[in-house]
Amino acid sequence: MRILVVEDERKIADFIKRGLKEEGYAVDVAYDGQEGHFLATTNDYDAIVLDVMLPKMDGVQFCRQLRQDKITAPIIMLTAKDSVKDKVTGLDAGADDYLTKPFAFEEFLARVRALLRKKDLAVTTTLQVNDLTLGLLTHKVYRAHKEIILTSKEMALLEYLMRNAGKVVTRTMISEHVWDIDFDTDTNVIDVYINYLRKKVDEGHKTKLIHTIRGRGYTFKGKNDF
Ligand code: CA
Repeated sequence: MRILVVEDERKIADFIKRGLKEEGYAVDVAYDGQEGHFLATTNDYDAIVLDVMLPKMDGVQFCRQLRQDKITAPIIMLTAKDSVKDKVTGLDAGADDYLTKPFAFEEFLARVRALLRKKDLAVTTTLQVNDLTLGLLTHKVYRAHKEIILTSKEMALLEYLMRNAGKVVTRTMISEHVWDIDFDTDTNVIDVYINYLRKKVDEGHKTKLIHTIRGRGYTFKGKNDF
């Protein structure tokens, strides 16, 4: 899951970025509305965290413009104002949720998760492929009822693969959804992480779930998903 944070106050932007990264999200930050709009229209984000008071293009304008551009990524607006009128303006402009500063990070995270679930159009709390399950809220992974301990990056990669089970995902797709904009596509980091996951998820099991598609990327599939 890759998230764009548009916030001009660097302290808050850095705080949000750090917190989201700890939860395993890939995070890009823009410090003004124009830069944010550029990133939002050139990359495929799973959610956007948007401050209202921004230089160059404010949050409400940003929202309207993005919806006109047919970008449907869910948006959560952050603002220091707490008037009903401001909320209505934000939601009318195309935001999906609204949070008033200062906020508790736990609440912020819960709302981000809710937005990401909405994007799936179903309340999915567990992903399952064959005997492998990943709890989206618990961050616990089990294969054949045995828990597998993953780092947050491995977890994010596995979640992306499982959400796209049965489809071929390219390294570019993986880098766009699991890593942030600073990711160097010339490295073999993705292959390295795929190997970590293989060791933890597939080693010792007869049915392999992670498959390499030569020259294209990877696919995640179980026995009956062909
Ligand atoms: Ca601001």
